[in-house]
Amino acid sequence: MLGVQNLTVRYGSHVALQDATVRFEAGSFSAIIGPNGAGKSTLLKTLVGLLPGTEGRVAFDEGHSARQCISYVPQQQTLDWGFPVTVWDVAMMGRTGRLGWLRWPSKRDRQLVEDALKETGVYELRARHIGALSGGQRQRVLLARMLARQGHLLLLDEPLTGVDSATQEQLMALLKTQAQRGRAVVMVTHDLEQARRWCDHLLLINRRIIADGTPEQVYTPANIEATFSTSHLGHTHAEA
Ligand code: ADP
Ligand code: MG
Repeated sequence: MLGVQNLTVRYGSHVALQDATVRFEAGSFSAIIGPNGAGKSTLLKTLVGLLPGTEGRVAFDEGHSARQCISYVPQQQTLDWGFPVTVWDVAMMGRTGRLGWLRWPSKRDRQLVEDALKETGVYELRARHIGALSGGQRQRVLLARMLARQGHLLLLDEPLTGVDSATQEQLMALLKTQAQRGRAVVMVTHDLEQARRWCDHLLLINRRIIADGTPEQVYTPANIEATFSTSHLGHTHAEA
């Protein structure tokens, strides 16, 4: 349903991703896994269309050609949480676009936002200022905004950072449900073990694609070694 073909992304002379080809299917819950600096966020940003001027192709299937279908949840630390807005306002951005109201919310918009806040368990916090939330509550609000948008392609960059393990399991179940409803769900994570349990598609990357397939195909000592142990950046992640 969406994918990239022979994608190479450079920042100046630094090659962040080399010759990557991968597809993400509707109805599938995919995890992108790799060490810091592996190009995970770069791959997601390319799919969203935030990185123009790359080599290769980004492809969408017929009927889903518009990028309007995408709901993107960026890495939390890249967002400004000092903004004077409420939980409800942030979730409503999933319907109306940016803050500043591109259009006035309809009754359906309000219903979808209410449903999304209930589904992610933060409806009771709807009048709260976002700056007053814990890390886990913030992630729930970002997921509510994503759900409210009703996109077919859900792209999430480390959505479980700062979330306690019980809540992580809840949110993984929520994402899996979205895939079962026919959406393509693609998540960047550091937690290989968790991804193996919940996802049906794993992609291991370290500047190039190391392995791509089902958890059974991908989760091998050789692949994990190739992904995590030879970090050119001088640090490795060994959460697995
Ligand atoms: P990951 O999300 O896997 O940690 P990123 O995709 O964010 O990795 O980054 C991949 C590599 O590209 C890193 O070495 C990073 O420092 C570099 N990089 C990312 N964004 C930029 C940018 N805007 N300008 C220059 N280098 C960047
Ligand atoms: Mg990243």
